[in-house]
Amino acid sequence: MRYSGFKVIKEALTGHRGWGPAWRDATPQASYDYVIIGGGGHGLATAYYLAKEFKQARIAVLEKGWIGGGNVGRNTTIIRSNYLLDGNEPFYEFSLKLWEGLEQDLNYNAMVSQRGILNLIHTDAQRDAFIRRGNAMMLNGADADLLSTAQIVARYPFLNVNDARFPIKGGLAQHRGGTVRHDAVAWGYARAADQRGVDIIQNCEVTGFRIENGTCLGVETSRGFIGAKKVGACVAGSSSRLMSHAGMRLPIESHVLQAFVSEGLKPVLPGVITFGAGHFYCSQSDKGGLVFGGDIDGYNSYAQRGNLPVVEDVCEGGMAIFPMIGRARLLRMWGGIMDMSMDGSPIIDHTHIKGLYFNGGWCYGGFKATPASGFVYAHLLATDTPHPTATAYRFDRFAKGLMIDEKGMGNQPNLH
Ligand SMILES: Cc1cc2nc3c(=O)[nH]c(=O)nc-3n(C[C@H](O)[C@H](O)[C@H](O)COP(=O)(O)OP(=O)(O)OC[C@H]3O[C@@H](n4cnc5c(N)ncnc54)[C@H](O)[C@@H]3O)c2cc1C
Repeated sequence: MRYSGFKVIKEALTGHRGWGPAWRDATPQASYDYVIIGGGGHGLATAYYLAKEFKQARIAVLEKGWIGGGNVGRNTTIIRSNYLLDGNEPFYEFSLKLWEGLEQDLNYNAMVSQRGILNLIHTDAQRDAFIRRGNAMMLNGADADLLSTAQIVARYPFLNVNDARFPIKGGLAQHRGGTVRHDAVAWGYARAADQRGVDIIQNCEVTGFRIENGTCLGVETSRGFIGAKKVGACVAGSSSRLMSHAGMRLPIESHVLQAFVSEGLKPVLPGVITFGAGHFYCSQSDKGGLVFGGDIDGYNSYAQRGNLPVVEDVCEGGMAIFPMIGRARLLRMWGGIMDMSMDGSPIIDHTHIKGLYFNGGWCYGGFKATPASGFVYAHLLATDTPHPTATAYRFDRFAKGLMIDEKGMGNQPNLH
């Protein structure tokens, strides 16, 4: 069934009796060519591109809970490609280009909104750093625009520009950045993958790997053994727990990141604003809620909920730059588990076990990467070679000292 405006009108006039389930509730088969572990955005996108771009078949996605229940349905929906380093920028720009055509490709309304993103500048040194970043972005074919304080005030008159702890001295804008309805991304990829024959199997937790003579033969699950020629791990915040079943210790720590939403307001915020100096960022959802967040909770955890000190810290950051937020009531908050890597950049690589591949270490920036992550992981799984935009995302970069450290913070996961 194709979705269209015509279909919506027809269903409205005929009592909405013609809609079917968006994807099948598949029963696990004894074996597949490809088993993808994790029904988040990245796992579902990988399965979709394996089928569509690389013409592969006999693919299953195994999800321990329900699809969209992980970080893909918990994030603050921001997409952008404003990275500095050569290891990252081409990959994230590839992802932004995929977002731009995603809804037509999937035939699904994911509410891709290129409303723009603005990184605020507070010091002359920060301006220098952002000019360098903007130039790196443009060299890689992305858009970047250095805005003056006057231009920012014209667009965002409510920002505390002069009287603030961090006076605003300009900003780096990426007008093609924006937001996407997060769980619709999971549903859109799931539906499109299902239409290409992918089995999406929910309530199926992977509890182990069957490894013989250095080769992965399949996975042990809560619904029995499932054989596979190739297994792709893609479980974000649960990466270290999952890969421990294969005897692997990853260069990843798990931390909680919280998100917040206010009551619905009339349109006040036309784009995404990030206030890095105060660990605060904000956008407005199409329902009117201010969606905002800040830093990770500072301790390791696998719990999908956060703690109150960070609530206070984030709200303080918001008040410092955006005083009118104090008049809005906080409606909801929630948390997700972040797979924080040593250098803040992801890993998309084969493991030392034949037939077992790994995708993870997305930290708190993996939503924007969803289309490209799926595409390049499918490329790696299908061809056993890395995609040209993802050659740096290897395990051995930590041993070789080839870190992709955007923040320049060194090997400390909670600082990235
Ligand atoms: C509060 C918050 C705000 C964020 N904001 C942004 C943002 O604005 N922009 C951005 O780019 N990124 C953001 N992120 C990060 C982004 O959400 C993640 O990096 C990204 O979603 C991770 O990939 P995923 O979608 O595949 O993960 P998930 O959706 O977490 O998918 C992993 C899946 O694996 C499943 N799983 C785990 N273990 C097993 C197992 N043993 N067997 C089977 N299945 C298993 C889980 O149930 C889960 O569904 C944010 C994250 C959070 C929590």
